[in-house]
Amino acid sequence: MRVSELENIWESRNPGGSTEMTTRALERTGCNTVQELTAAFRDELASLIKSLQPLTSVSYVLDEQLRFVYCNPAWDAFALANGAPELALNALAGQALLKAIPTVLHPFYANGFRLVQSGNELWEHVYECSSAHEFRRYKMRVDPILGGWFLVRHTLVIKRAHEKIVRPGSHNYVADTGCITVCCNCRRSRRTGRAQKWDFVPEYVANPPRVVEQILCPDCLDTYYVASQG
Ligand SMILES: [Zn+2]
Repeated sequence: MRVSELENIWESRNPGGSTEMTTRALERTGCNTVQELTAAFRDELASLIKSLQPLTSVSYVLDEQLRFVYCNPAWDAFALANGAPELALNALAGQALLKAIPTVLHPFYANGFRLVQSGNELWEHVYECSSAHEFRRYKMRVDPILGGWFLVRHTLVIKRAHEKIVRPGSHNYVADTGCITVCCNCRRSRRTGRAQKWDFVPEYVANPPRVVEQILCPDCLDTYYVASQG
């Protein structure tokens, strides 16, 4: 019964896909371990996915190699609202989470998931993901589930107007190479020259220049990454 429910959900999340059983749907994600999943695991997964369907928090399930298995409808809503419809309807199934995360953050996230896997306990991380018009802060919570897999949920903590914005013409942000440097957490842009100051430039968030280098600004490194590692 539960597996049947999962099959129905899976079909709704993978339109045009096969109507075959859950296992085949899961195999499409590229999970090598799926064939070895026990009935108990499938039951738990079915129950979990059913519970994630109505949540307003962006939620997803990752396998033991941090590959997407399932993303809930709240993910779709977020993707559509942020101009990325190609990421909706479980389009990322089988792809690695780290591919969607800037390279500079890979060690931090890899370490966080390793802590969850080795300690079998939850890991939380607060980060910013602002749009051009709104300052947004989220909390990411990672829980271990059976099989070394992960349940990840993102909850909005703060949403408000930006307190200080700067227009592109106010300062120079484009290096001689044509590249601008942007913080991948707060999305502020770094001024060129000796100033090394960082400003939130909505135009660069709404329409990113062709060449962008993503790093962490000193403030975000201290506040969200070094400090949070304890
Ligand atoms: Zn920053």
